Amino acid sequence: MNNLQNKNISNRVKKILFAVGVIAIIAIGFFAVLNIAQKPTNNSQKITVVTTLFPLYDFAKSIGGDKVEVSLLLPPGVEAHTFEPKPSDIVNINESDLFVYTGKFMEPWAEDIIRGISGKDIKIVDTSAGIELMKEEEHEDKHGTVHEEEEHGHEHGGIDPHIWLDFDNNKIMLDNIVKALTEKDPANADYYQKNATDYKTKLAQLDNQYRTTLSKCESKEIVYGGHYAFGYLGKRYGLAYESAYGISPDSEPSAQDLAKIVEQIKKEKIKYVFFEELVSPKVAETLAKETGAGLLLLNPAHNLTKKDFENKASFLSIMEKNLVNLKIGLQCNE
Ligand SMILES: [Zn+2]
Repeated sequence: MNNLQNKNISNRVKKILFAVGVIAIIAIGFFAVLNIAQKPTNNSQKITVVTTLFPLYDFAKSIGGDKVEVSLLLPPGVEAHTFEPKPSDIVNINESDLFVYTGKFMEPWAEDIIRGISGKDIKIVDTSAGIELMKEEEHEDKHGTVHEEEEHGHEHGGIDPHIWLDFDNNKIMLDNIVKALTEKDPANADYYQKNATDYKTKLAQLDNQYRTTLSKCESKEIVYGGHYAFGYLGKRYGLAYESAYGISPDSEPSAQDLAKIVEQIKKEKIKYVFFEELVSPKVAETLAKETGAGLLLLNPAHNLTKKDFENKASFLSIMEKNLVNLKIGLQCNE
């Protein structure tokens, strides 16, 4: 073998090595791309659900189990009535399979979003479909007090949007979510239906406890330092309900409104005033201070505090705690 031949061989080896290198780089690149492409594919096997309020988040998670990925738009501790979605929230809704909201009276901003996503393959779940909505006037008739809602009631069109605070309404809301999930993912229809049935059983048990406990109370009136959220609950169990704020907590009650409630607490010898966590407790504290009444939490569950999220509170656990406090506050004797 002469030098020339040696040189030719070494050139050929170099060429082969170069080609192998190029193939290896292409192969690595190809698998890297495959890997990246696979990640979202894996995630998208789960149905993605975007929910607005905590009860809907809890319902969707309970029904969907490990087949769904549920997110809640409200950040922890944020008051629901004053919430407006950020551009990133709208992106999330646009990329979801299901968008679950309470109804147009609770989330007026949802109308625009729904118009924006029409024609896309996203199921819109109005959980209030099939539920008989209460009007504000019904509260006025019930306990004879005229609420002046004109200045802060127009967004709700005179409708009380707090449908989830009635256990029968919860069943309809669950059914609405099951229907949409089943249409999106018919293969798991039985799974969704079974989970919803289990949830309804728990709701029925709690409803029975409410009915039994609240039928034996010395007081039949809930006085709330928060907003008008428990109208449905009051109606369901035959309790009068008076709140310092209107249907939405966005405007503070006037001194005159508060004076009327103070007078009522004194006259009716109300022992406890209930307060809500995500609205300033100042009003409830004032009512308690002026009258000597005690303070108890009554959580309308639109959203959770950060602490409640960390403690994995559920809609059922919140409603159980509410019953404990109602029992104390209304002096119910079982
Ligand atoms: Zn509310």
